[in-house]
Amino acid sequence: MLPSKIDVIEVSARDGLQNEKTLISTADKVQLIRRSVAAGARRIEAVSFVNPQRVPQMADAAEVMATLRSEDDLRGQGVSLIGLVLNQRGFDRALEAGVDEVNFVVVASETFNQRNQGVSIAQTLEQIAQTALIAKAEGLTFGVTIGAAFGCPFEGEVDEAQISRLAAAAFAMGVSEIALADTIGVGDPIAVERRIGLAKAASPGVRIRCHFHNTRNTGLANAYAAVRAGAMALDTSIGGIGGCPFAPAATGNIPTEDTVYMLERMGIATGYDLPALIETADWLGEVLGGKALPGMLGKAGVFPAAA
Ligand code: ZN
Repeated sequence: MLPSKIDVIEVSARDGLQNEKTLISTADKVQLIRRSVAAGARRIEAVSFVNPQRVPQMADAAEVMATLRSEDDLRGQGVSLIGLVLNQRGFDRALEAGVDEVNFVVVASETFNQRNQGVSIAQTLEQIAQTALIAKAEGLTFGVTIGAAFGCPFEGEVDEAQISRLAAAAFAMGVSEIALADTIGVGDPIAVERRIGLAKAASPGVRIRCHFHNTRNTGLANAYAAVRAGAMALDTSIGGIGGCPFAPAATGNIPTEDTVYMLERMGIATGYDLPALIETADWLGEVLGGKALPGMLGKAGVFPAAA
């Protein structure tokens, strides 16, 4: 049983760029988001509101949002801009910047959560509970991402019972979506299937989203397993840009164009235009200093060839 459509959430402007060493101008970030919209993206993780000392690439998050809000009627086109946050302060900034959706991260391992957000998992869950209420009052879509859901760079294996526990906590807070993130790219299709099953059981009726990194080349296999297991949204980045600060030499998110190609061939609608995605990936490679990006579709071409 496959769904007839899937949300392919474009995260190049956030997760992709966040891991790039070259600082990208605000204008180019805005351009990337506009090009993503033109290529068919309707949910876009546009920015994160995190400590600029720790993530310099996201220091201009408010400016990116302000430019998009002043010059484009993205809501009119049905586009939802997502801001990623790690704590209450980030949530306040996201609200002020005018995001449509907030994505709050809690990490599945205690050590990684402590390193990433500076507090314990229990404290992060408390902040999520508080901000979820505000988000609801403001009419914002509110989702929770479980980071390092398949393995941790510090603690190693992550017990799958932790997925059930965190999904149940998020469910109790009334979130509309729960994302399982393979932050360091160590998941496999069976683990994906099992963990989605556990998350669904712990949060009946909540949409499941997945975030895969192609660090060990299991990204598309994991995406396929996720769709079969009932995930309704997948995070991808154009060109497959990104990386992971904890896995040097790692490749980035699963490439948008490759994922869309696979889903469309399977008969699952995504709303994207493949030639426009390939063109945007080429443009993005130039912006990033002329480097070759991991995405494969641009190298091989669309099949069957466009008329
Ligand atoms: Zn990521």
